[in-house]
Amino acid sequence: MQRRKVVIIGSGPAGYTAAIYASRANLQPLLYEGFFSGTAGGQLMTTTEVENFPGFPEGIEGPELMLRCRKQAQRFGTELVTEDVTNINLSQYPFLVSGSKTNVCTSSIIIATGALAKRLDIEGAHDGEFWQKGVTACAVCDGAAPIFRDKDLYVIGGGDSACEEAIFLTKYGKKVYIVHRRDQFRASKIMAERALNHPKIEVLWDTVLTKIEGQDVVGSVKLQNVKTKEEYKRDAGGVFFAIGFTPNTAFLNGQLELTENNYLKIFNHTKTSVEGVFAAGDVHDSKYRQAVSAAGDGCMAAMDAERWLSEKGLL
Ligand code: NAP
Repeated sequence: MQRRKVVIIGSGPAGYTAAIYASRANLQPLLYEGFFSGTAGGQLMTTTEVENFPGFPEGIEGPELMLRCRKQAQRFGTELVTEDVTNINLSQYPFLVSGSKTNVCTSSIIIATGALAKRLDIEGAHDGEFWQKGVTACAVCDGAAPIFRDKDLYVIGGGDSACEEAIFLTKYGKKVYIVHRRDQFRASKIMAERALNHPKIEVLWDTVLTKIEGQDVVGSVKLQNVKTKEEYKRDAGGVFFAIGFTPNTAFLNGQLELTENNYLKIFNHTKTSVEGVFAAGDVHDSKYRQAVSAAGDGCMAAMDAERWLSEKGLL
């Protein structure tokens, strides 16, 4: 069985950046970029234009950005494996990482498996319908797109993300509606108050989204008041899901400490609860969730891994 100094699991901006740093540090990393778990490249592969990644003043398509990061990682010697990691064993050392076809022993691991934005399973929200055609799960990434300008926009959810995204969208939309299934926000008081006091935001309490309709892009939404059962249709230029994220940590089978929301728990920047295992990006970060913050994290995880290997005499 082959032995590595570092195995990186995950291929978004965090994973690829960790690979760039680890390969430039001569650690000859192996990176599992995923297969069935989702497209290699992570969430940016389903994003259109990325306008807030520094260095691209005209913006860059999400998939193009990830392809460039991938090439950059390969340029310095990262080996890519297009497989999902099905199991890891942290009770043995060196650690064991198993993909669908390969097994690797490794002195350290960087976990950068990201998180998946939850979507409602309703008509109009799926791939091939209006997903990325007016329906998205990231206002900060997509909100400035021309299709949302001066339109009525609908944010689904009642947490901090919903309030934050709604406030962000007021810069672009004509009016922003927060659609929340209950009559009380889950969001922190300060975020809730900001949203409630904003002149361009209206909250539709006790309301659920039941359908998204349109021609080429989103044109209207169907909503239902869960108390009165009244169903009605409204013009809409965009739908933004802010109903939480699912971090991709299930494959760890409880071997690393998680937060109550199943994010990886980190200590001192990128360290996990097991020595020699590091985390980068959305798999531990429920707060910033940006491509650039994930990339920065990938850099830190690779540097931490290299220092740890050096301290242990494993280089
Ligand atoms: P969250 O707190 O879990 O809130 C998710 C919201 O979506 C809840 O209001 C929930 O409704 C609603 N929801 C969930 N499933 C739904 C469904 N199937 N249909 C309709 N509504 C549904 O998630 P979040 O807002 O993304 O926040 C996650 C964490 O990140 C939190 O700890 C938050 O404080 C933090 N965060 C912080 C900031 C900040 O500090 N600036 C910004 C964003 C996020 P219910 O309330 O009825 O359950």
